[in-house]
Amino acid sequence: MAIRTFEDLLVDEIKDLYDAEHQLTKALPKMAKAATSPDLKSAFESHLHQTEGHIKRLEQVFAGLGKKPTRKTCVAMKGLVEEGSEVIEEDMGAEVKDAALIGAAQRVEHYEIAGYGTVRTFAHLLGHNDLETLLQSTLNEEAATDEKLTGLAGRINVKAMQQ
Ligand code: FE
Ligand code: FE
Repeated sequence: MAIRTFEDLLVDEIKDLYDAEHQLTKALPKMAKAATSPDLKSAFESHLHQTEGHIKRLEQVFAGLGKKPTRKTCVAMKGLVEEGSEVIEEDMGAEVKDAALIGAAQRVEHYEIAGYGTVRTFAHLLGHNDLETLLQSTLNEEAATDEKLTGLAGRINVKAMQQ
């Protein structure tokens, strides 16, 4: 589909995020399994739960735009997930690996924060106030997850230094 209007661009970006969130539902269980810290494991598990909610919200956004939910490969998320897989497979000490997993996960959250910030603003400009609210809710959850990871890193990085 050609992208001619600003609203076409919004739809295109939503398709990209819809694919990115699906990729994450596959990656987060592997991150949880690879983590040693119980708090980090549970942070990944609870974000998996939220991620399923992000997919549902995007489906509501598609409906609001009169479109069927469609995925468009998010190449950037493929790369970020691939980097996460490298951490998972790498031979590392447990705490050092936890620190690396947090680094990989925060890259993902920052990417999502950028993506949702963009579509939230597009929806606002196009007067889709209900869709703006949905997208802002997800944006808030991504930001809260990023902050939670920063908090966990505070303790886990110190343990990794001692290893
Ligand atoms: Fe998400
Ligand atoms: Fe996220």
